[in-house]
Amino acid sequence: MAIEDEVNDEASQASRSHNREFVMTTMEREIRNISEIEQALERISKKEYGVCVTCEKTIPDNRLQAIPWTRLCVDCAGGGIKRNQDRTLGQPVFGSSLG
Ligand SMILES: [Zn+2]
Repeated sequence: MAIEDEVNDEASQASRSHNREFVMTTMEREIRNISEIEQALERISKKEYGVCVTCEKTIPDNRLQAIPWTRLCVDCAGGGIKRNQDRTLGQPVFGSSLG
């Protein structure tokens, strides 16, 4: 992605640093997704994939297709209805089963 090309005046420089922030934020999110994906792969190898880590119910296929790396069923993820749990991704929910 070449965003360098269009940087000629101060305005676009400002928006460029804004872009930079945007890219950093997006990258952080992507990196988080990558670690989620790595964990999902690990769960596949342990045959734990597709099972909610909280309530241990099977996660429905349509949810897995939408969010393949999810480790929570709709209920435990909150579905964005009960309460805002967008931050769930960043929390180490899996701490108890190490080793
Ligand atoms: Zn659950």
